[in-house]
Amino acid sequence: MAKKAAAASTHSLGAGFNQSVNRYFNKAAAHLKHADGILEQIRSCNTILEVKFPARINGEIQVISAWRAEHSHHKLPCKGGIRYSEDADAEEVIALASLMTYKCAVVNVPFGGGKGAIKINPKKVSVEELERITRRYTVELIHKNCIGASVDVPAPDYGSGAREMAWIADTYSSYKPNDINALGCVTGKPVSQGGVRGRTEATGRGVYFGVREAVNDAKLMKKLGMNIGLGDKTVIVQGFGNVGFHAAKFLQEGGATIVGIVEWDGAVYSKDGIDVMALDAHRKATGSITNFPGAKTVKNGNSVLEYPCDILVPAALESQIHADNANGIKAKIVAEGANGPITFDGENILIKKGILMIPDMYINAGGVVVSYFEWLKNLSHVRFGRMDKRFEENTNSQLVAMVERLTGQGLTNAEKKLVVRGADEEDLVNSGLEDTMIGSYHEIMEVWGNHKKVNDMRTAAFISAIDKIATSYSSLGIFP
Ligand code: NAD
Repeated sequence: MAKKAAAASTHSLGAGFNQSVNRYFNKAAAHLKHADGILEQIRSCNTILEVKFPARINGEIQVISAWRAEHSHHKLPCKGGIRYSEDADAEEVIALASLMTYKCAVVNVPFGGGKGAIKINPKKVSVEELERITRRYTVELIHKNCIGASVDVPAPDYGSGAREMAWIADTYSSYKPNDINALGCVTGKPVSQGGVRGRTEATGRGVYFGVREAVNDAKLMKKLGMNIGLGDKTVIVQGFGNVGFHAAKFLQEGGATIVGIVEWDGAVYSKDGIDVMALDAHRKATGSITNFPGAKTVKNGNSVLEYPCDILVPAALESQIHADNANGIKAKIVAEGANGPITFDGENILIKKGILMIPDMYINAGGVVVSYFEWLKNLSHVRFGRMDKRFEENTNSQLVAMVERLTGQGLTNAEKKLVVRGADEEDLVNSGLEDTMIGSYHEIMEVWGNHKKVNDMRTAAFISAIDKIATSYSSLGIFP
């Protein structure tokens, strides 16, 4: 494996983020009895690849920097998105890759953590230039053995989506014509290119499932002085991209009132609620969420993070809630749609204020959970539900007919349709995601309950992750 170790700058933008993640890790590790060597191995980033390549942008040659970090190989493949951002740097990629390791462990997805980044602003280059850069980055990953269904499987992240994943899959497949599992080299692809139904919405849907579980937790709601359920909850979301838009949409459909949405160029706020789909249509028509009819536009968008609400969902970027603004946060629950949106110092302030943080490694894990399903689909070469949908429908029909015969009562056509219907791919994906988010919530809460000195959910999630990874190293016989 030809992989280049790069000494990451300690003065980069991502350095603070990486430091924050390590401080969270150390805080949790202090509650555990694993040997220092095991903890050090779990915390360390195993591999960081840094590449530079030329690209013609606006007629001029520019040197593009890009990275791929494989934080942990305790399970393979490594898994994690590719960020397209001008602010990307090696430390940020390492921090994000480490979060992927812990996230996969928390939600029991059998992958190691990885992350990639290309240092560009995708909005400032043409689609053709973006495609060339993405394909070249993929070739770099192929040459360094940092991509492949059994090695390392990227996915979308900030600034990238299904289109970029399709380019990656196509480039990889053309370089590896004999790899029958080539399409499993990347997830988040369009369905027409081996993607799975439900992947695009998965992270936001997972945020909804996780928040719903928390607000239905009677013990927790009592502790926070809140009523059970989503019905009376007000929500502010930062970032109206893939994660933020879908989280807002599903939370609204679940009964919550979305009172504020924050974007980079301003925010919209209405205490009577914002129609998420109408705001999306307005953004598509005008290019911005601002000036949305019926809501107040706030120029200093981030000031809305400090407006009154029950649940705040930062779903844009890291380090958005920090020592300087944490005191102003009025939400009782902060659900981390983004990766690392709260700094270590910011979190300490929120904990003192009695605010519950639902940590990124759990609440935004929906994307990797459904990516896991997509990868399984690619390896099995069959659409979920294809083998059993019809069989299930026939069995259900016979059961309905039997019940009708025995009771002498007939079901309406609508009732019959509901009962008879066999599960298709999207039903199975969403149900698998829901089950994972519910199960993982209770696993974290159980760990929290077993560690009386732990005063926040993130530390409990870290403990859960560290324990699982440590066990997997021990069972490999590496650390007897
Ligand atoms: P995205 O590019 O689709 O959306 C990000 C949104 O945030 C954009 O609308 C952007 O304009 C907005 N934004 C940028 N700067 C902002 C600022 N200063 N204030 C307010 N809004 C701002 O990205 P995404 O995929 O939704 O990812 C968002 C976050 O969620 C990232 O931290 C990412 O790592 C994390 N995440 C994404 C996924 C996924 O499946 N896409 C999964 C897990 C975690």
